[in-house]
Amino acid sequence: MLCDDCKKKPASISFKEVLPDKTIELNLCDECASKRGLLVTRKLSPVEILQKLLRQRSEQDEKVICPRCYLSLAEFKRIGRFGCSDCLTTFTSHIQHLIKQIHQSDRHIGRKAAPGTKQGLEVYRLREELKKALESESYEDAAKIRDQLREYGIKDV
Ligand SMILES: [Zn+2]
Ligand SMILES: [Zn+2]
Repeated sequence: MLCDDCKKKPASISFKEVLPDKTIELNLCDECASKRGLLVTRKLSPVEILQKLLRQRSEQDEKVICPRCYLSLAEFKRIGRFGCSDCLTTFTSHIQHLIKQIHQSDRHIGRKAAPGTKQGLEVYRLREELKKALESESYEDAAKIRDQLREYGIKDV
């Protein structure tokens, strides 16, 4: 199968964009996929997300410390893993903006084409949004977010 964009090179990746009225299927070569900004997203593995995370350092990192194992966020970024199960809770709010950034770069990809980690991040993000919507009593927003979560098969919301 040839690439849909250049019609010259063999397609190596196929994308599916699910829209309300139709499904667009694209078969692209590596080059055209990266031109469309799709390739980068496709290759974003949990390790890469972590690496991206680790590259972003700030002074504040030294002050964010896990109350249980005393690992600092700065240290976490250096060693690349958590010290205990509480670290995640401690660091989440500080790394959230990054998770959001990663999500935004994913946005142009159809949901059905985003399994695994990206979906996990999306669900994570939606849950956070839902919490916020409920806290601010925006029930209309909350209902919308619940619908989105259901699309991911999350029913306990
Ligand atoms: Zn191409
Ligand atoms: Zn810890």
